[in-house]
Amino acid sequence: MRDNVIAICPGSFDPVTYGHLDIITRAAGMFKKLIVVVASNSSKNCCFTPEERVELIKKCITNLDNVEVVHYDGLLADYAAQVGATAIIKGLRAMSDFEYEFQMALTNRKLNNEVETVFLTTSAEYMYLSSSLVKEVARLGGDIKEFVPPCAAQDVVNKFERNDTHDR
Ligand code: ADP
Repeated sequence: MRDNVIAICPGSFDPVTYGHLDIITRAAGMFKKLIVVVASNSSKNCCFTPEERVELIKKCITNLDNVEVVHYDGLLADYAAQVGATAIIKGLRAMSDFEYEFQMALTNRKLNNEVETVFLTTSAEYMYLSSSLVKEVARLGGDIKEFVPPCAAQDVVNKFERNDTHDR
């Protein structure tokens, strides 16, 4: 991997999970700089505000000095051009992720031909893990310690206890 490459890692991160952090940590080791881009996804109703999602990720990555976390709402291809990123990192959990991700990768390439999408396969232990699952368990009062690191877990629990989710 070229050591001068800036990469971006987009997602909803509503909330961040060990699955996301595994991808972020592995990608941080591959590139000069990694920017985690918290996007508002029009097809998803997010429980956490973008600012909350950014803060939760920041709390979990204090050990990674080449990772930045931002909120961006426009086209990812434009953001990549703006910051000079030439790689988009995506995690793949299953074949079901693939079709959509493949389409997104081709679209981003059309919009910005400087950018390559790089797929990292999930670590086996996180294959089942998604933000939706975390929210479902937290909403029902279950223990989320297997899914979210301690530095963020309490914030997630509090959110559901107070029932003040951003968009239900
Ligand atoms: P989700 O809401 O499904 O967790 P996000 O939009 O927040 O998804 O995901 C951002 C990126 O992280 C996507 O590339 C997604 O495939 C990846 N990702 C999410 N969960 C995992 C996991 N458990 N293992 C690997 N990659 C993951």
